Amino acid sequence: MDAAYDRVRRSRAGIATVLAQQDVVAGVGAALRSEVLFRCGIRPQRPARQIGQEQWVELWTDLVLLQGAAAKSGRLVTVRGGGRGGAAAAPGDGFHVHARAGRKCRVCRSTIASSRRGQRSLVWCPTCQT
Ligand SMILES: [Zn+2]
Repeated sequence: MDAAYDRVRRSRAGIATVLAQQDVVAGVGAALRSEVLFRCGIRPQRPARQIGQEQWVELWTDLVLLQGAAAKSGRLVTVRGGGRGGAAAAPGDGFHVHARAGRKCRVCRSTIASSRRGQRSLVWCPTCQT
């Protein structure tokens, strides 16, 4: 965790980009990345070096928690009480922002924003994430 934070702190890129670099945090998929940043209230474009150590620990802890739960259930669900739809679930069910661009934030009802840069798309709530 300390080695990863070192990389984050020295980076000039946005936090989502840094999280996507496999050598910083192994196995963090797009959905997990977007959801963790939402749950921690961090906008994906925020420069990584502006993430304080306390916030990094919070982010890391949540990543580990969600990854563990997903491994157990076979499905990533980041919304409390979500994911009961089974096979009938629509894209974005069980998520806050992933696959929900243009829809309403479950927390504040703002419209979920998105941007695309090359292969990578970012989604976030403009109100909940700063
Ligand atoms: Zn929101």
